[in-house]
Amino acid sequence: MTLKARIKALAAEVGYAACGIAGTEPFEEYRAALRDRIHRFPEAAELYRELEGRVDPRAVAPWARAIVVCVRRYGKYAVPEELVGHIGRNYLCDRRIKDCPDHAMPKKMKAGLVGLGARVKTGGVPGRAAAVRAGVAGFGRNNFVYAEGCGSWINIESWLIDAELEPDLPAPPAPCPEGCQACRNACPTGALQAPYVMCQDRCIAYLTFEAPAPVAPELWGRMGAWVYGCDVCQQVCPMNKGKWDRREPTPWLDEVLDRLTPAALAAMDQETYEKVVYPLFGYIPKDNLARWQANARRAMEAGKSV
Ligand code: SF4
Ligand code: SF4
Repeated sequence: MTLKARIKALAAEVGYAACGIAGTEPFEEYRAALRDRIHRFPEAAELYRELEGRVDPRAVAPWARAIVVCVRRYGKYAVPEELVGHIGRNYLCDRRIKDCPDHAMPKKMKAGLVGLGARVKTGGVPGRAAAVRAGVAGFGRNNFVYAEGCGSWINIESWLIDAELEPDLPAPPAPCPEGCQACRNACPTGALQAPYVMCQDRCIAYLTFEAPAPVAPELWGRMGAWVYGCDVCQQVCPMNKGKWDRREPTPWLDEVLDRLTPAALAAMDQETYEKVVYPLFGYIPKDNLARWQANARRAMEAGKSV
């Protein structure tokens, strides 16, 4: 078996839905896309400039000779209906949650690559662009990437390695039906301004926590029932039809469900926040109790939007 075949077998064993190999040349199309966004949305220029460090994999790891790119499918979890439309499914099924069964996948993959004799660095490249180059996912017009059999309910994970491997063929764009613009029409805040063009500083996923507070009233009034994140442009997408199968349980959500509803979040105290909410979303800075509560109050007023 070749090293490339052994890497793909390892990825399947770890639980990834797909694995491909990409070369390490600079992601010039990603650089061009960032510059285009800076030109179109100068008010969000800093957000895009921060991403420029991912353009050249060899600048991150001069010894790297290939990128291993894997697809984690999270569209298999029985997310409680009470949370759908309020918290993005990606965050509810985030493998960074320590009780999520996928939590250890990247570590297992890295250890497996090291076990195959490779020098390895996790990440450091633009995930979605790397997925396209490695042939495992293609862009839809909503700017999410879609993988065979999974729709867009996926995360991309990547590792730079020092082994010379033949790259896979790149993936074509996802097959959006001709004339479809359901995602653009449904986007509550107008973040999807053209096919394949998303204005990050208008996206609810950014506005709920990363954006400086307070959010402009014009946008705040359009964020609806979302407390954290947003799934609207994925939920309305015909390419996602039948791609969420709910076959795996979510005990890490079920056991705290009564404290994650908008009403419970709006009323939570500091102790509940620290013991229940923060451990699930620990990458959001801890001093955000008031923001969680404000988002939850808005969500309660809006009702369920999707
Ligand atoms: S995630 Fe929501 S706000 Fe962001 S682009 Fe999609 S529909 Fe618009
Ligand atoms: S909603 Fe339509 S245009 Fe948007 S990504 Fe899905 S198929 Fe493509």
